[in-house]
Amino acid sequence: MTANEIRESFKSFFREKGHQIVPSAPMVIKDDPTLMFTNAGMNQFKDIILGNRPATHTRVADSQKCLRVSGKHNDLEEVGHDTYHHTMFEMLGNWSFGDYFKKEAIDWAWEYLVDVLKLNPDRLYATVFEGYAPEGLERDNEAAAYWEKHLPASHIINGNRHDNFWEMGDTGPCGPCSEIHIDLRPEEERKAVDGASLVNKDNPLVIEIWNLVFMQYNRKADGSLEPLPAKVIDTGMGFERLCMALQGKTSNYDTDVFTPIIDVIAGLTDLKYGVDAKTDIAMRVVADHLRTIAFSIADSQLPSNAKAGYVIRRILRRAVRYAYTFLNRKEAFLYRLVDCLVEQMGESYPELKAQKELIKKVIKEEEESFLRTLDNGIKLLDTLMAKAKAEGTTTLSGKDAFTLYDTYGFPLDLTELILRENGMDLDQKEFDSEMQKQKERARNAASVETGDWVVVRPGEQEFVGYDLQQCDTDILRYRKVKQKGKEYYQIILSRTPFYAEMGGQVGDRGSLISESGETIEIFDTKRENNIGVHLSHRLPTNPGESFTATIDCGARAATSANHSATHLLHEALREVLGTHVEQKGSFVSPNVLRFDFSHFQKVTPEELRKVEHIVNARIRKAMPLEEAREMPIDEARKMGAMALFGEKYGDKVRVVKYGSSVELCGGTHVCNTGNIGMVRILSESSIAAGIRRIEAVTAAGVEDLLDDFQDTMKDVCAFLGNSSNIRAAVEKTIKENAELHKQAEEFLAERTRNLSADVLQNATEVNGVTVCRLSGPRMPEVVKNVAFNIRKDSPIHTVFIGTTMSGDKPLLTLMISDDLVKQGLNASQIIREAAKLIKGGGGGQPFFAQAGGKDADGLSAASDKILELLKI
Ligand code: ATP
Ligand code: MG
Repeated sequence: MTANEIRESFKSFFREKGHQIVPSAPMVIKDDPTLMFTNAGMNQFKDIILGNRPATHTRVADSQKCLRVSGKHNDLEEVGHDTYHHTMFEMLGNWSFGDYFKKEAIDWAWEYLVDVLKLNPDRLYATVFEGYAPEGLERDNEAAAYWEKHLPASHIINGNRHDNFWEMGDTGPCGPCSEIHIDLRPEEERKAVDGASLVNKDNPLVIEIWNLVFMQYNRKADGSLEPLPAKVIDTGMGFERLCMALQGKTSNYDTDVFTPIIDVIAGLTDLKYGVDAKTDIAMRVVADHLRTIAFSIADSQLPSNAKAGYVIRRILRRAVRYAYTFLNRKEAFLYRLVDCLVEQMGESYPELKAQKELIKKVIKEEEESFLRTLDNGIKLLDTLMAKAKAEGTTTLSGKDAFTLYDTYGFPLDLTELILRENGMDLDQKEFDSEMQKQKERARNAASVETGDWVVVRPGEQEFVGYDLQQCDTDILRYRKVKQKGKEYYQIILSRTPFYAEMGGQVGDRGSLISESGETIEIFDTKRENNIGVHLSHRLPTNPGESFTATIDCGARAATSANHSATHLLHEALREVLGTHVEQKGSFVSPNVLRFDFSHFQKVTPEELRKVEHIVNARIRKAMPLEEAREMPIDEARKMGAMALFGEKYGDKVRVVKYGSSVELCGGTHVCNTGNIGMVRILSESSIAAGIRRIEAVTAAGVEDLLDDFQDTMKDVCAFLGNSSNIRAAVEKTIKENAELHKQAEEFLAERTRNLSADVLQNATEVNGVTVCRLSGPRMPEVVKNVAFNIRKDSPIHTVFIGTTMSGDKPLLTLMISDDLVKQGLNASQIIREAAKLIKGGGGGQPFFAQAGGKDADGLSAASDKILELLKI
């Protein structure tokens, strides 16, 4: 079976068992403060499992793109070195939300693997939770009993809390799990060593393929467990590992998921896969990371230097570094593999196909910039090594290595490699301690302490903010949060008009007023597991009272105008620039809107103006908002809604339509485009390869802009004598100014010439040397020009001494003709000595030097000093 057939067979098996097959959620998570990337199939169902959202189907199955490179699951360092961990992989999963439980989960997993796929049951092992006495948890005998129907006792293995008890987080749903492991070793080895003894022992051929999680408890903040009302089945099977088992391979990279890309890498590098261990690792790293990078760019997560973007940048750099060191790629190369990847996965993941050019461009630019970093790092390392050697040591300090790593992004293993090649090593202890300090700094900055929820009354939240700005409500629960030394409260309301931050739109502010008249200010609204969390600095005295919740209507109206304007801008940009324009991010606040989109060159002023005109015409058309709150995704697609990639399953989507602009959007909007007033673009710039950003204002924001503009114009007019034609008046002033400037220069040049002649005429002869002098208030430029004129007119046996004033500052100038310089006189040295007498300093060349000072009274003494040092 090919990989694609295997994926399909999984889906059809569970479809037949009554499961709804749903699409993969995006791999990059945008609106969850607790998670950057999808790292398991269950992520997209978190709010169903937590009971915040009803399940549309109680049985669901899918294949989910996962990424395990940060936080709780981080396999990055293994990837490439072993043959069965990836950064990005697909997880096949089936779920039951309060429907079937352990029996069916186990029976069906067995039926699928053994009856359908025909895996050899003799090579399969199952683990079950052995129990944990301190928490009063018994062995999962129930699961074990179901396994006993399929497997001999010797293939059922007890596992500890670490391997066989799954928890969503510090708190929340949890429960025992059962993993299915497969032994892929050759027969002889299996006879020699019992497979059961190798389960969970990091043997690359005895590995876990499927994890069945039985969520039956809820862990509270005090650590105690309570039963979960609706039990959940959550399973996850590694797709690439399954392909390996079915295709009779011993490495995921030998399956058709990876061989096409490995072949292209081998072709481009003139190297063979399977010959040298180091080259093989590098090829696996490149093949693996390419998928992660391409998929995250398609999910709109570009490499950057913060948060998720930084994780992606580091992965890309890891690939470049392996290619640089072990595949000898000194030029950008990863981007050349994108075509092959798209050919292979583009059918199943159309977002890859649609954005191929952007993906290539972004990767190429990142590669090139990192290769420059590598070059610079190597140069810096050369200097550091030379310095160390000069100090008589062959050990590079850990601090230096850390600076290279942290400030210059130069990878540690490359540092080590280069050091080794030069017969040196590094102070690893010092490096580790620097790294530790850095980690602590990061941890302190990020740490959030949350208290237990205090439940005031049970219930679910209802969002009424699309229709209402104020409503009666009750507090369901609240808790205290400590972050960066600051304390605040999170409050969950039963009904709320407050929009919680999402999709780039900031959260609402406002207030809660209790029946008894107490006012609590809400300073922001965030979203967690799809519920609005209201943030306040204090709690009401009596949280049990009823409240009136009111949002800041002015801020909301301004935000909505900006949000609706981004939709109109999006559409107009596609009309003017082309349909390659795709939204890549947005930020919508009351004051300003930002819209990021893919486009490969600067948007010209003419194009921008065209976009503005289109949008403003549509604003003036006063098009009403047509909104469908609960539209099935297929219908929305038929309407031509934009942004359809990677929507979450089951989500009846919200469609926002103004005229021909149709978007999927959860944000708040004006009820009529007329309310936007007008759009004005403030700036257009590049934020990354192939990505542009527009900033704009609307409504009262445009009014402020125009007011400011008009005031400036008024002032300018007044400066220009209230001329009726400002443009001509400004032009005339500039011309006049240039003319005057020219005249002033000519005048100055003539005066300097006359002055030089005077100075020379009044010169004195001292021991055969012509001594010229200039004093009084003079512009320094003039003094210098006089000195140079004299140098030309009297080239031998001549010195020029300037003791002039520039404003209230004394200035010494000394010029010595070349013949005297040859005799050993040095203007620069002399002036430095003499400058002391005017409390100043300066210097220059042997034939000409100047020095400024602070003490004008010292000028004549300085002049005497110069004569003395000239020895004439
Ligand atoms: P392992 O111990 O092998 O790292 P795990 O305990 O981290 O696995 P789970 O979190 O239970 O795995 O994930 C479910 C399944 O996903 C695993 O059984 C495995 O087949 C697959 N899987 C997990 N991590 C990876 C990875 N980094 N690359 C590919 N497949 C993976
Ligand atoms: Mg793991």
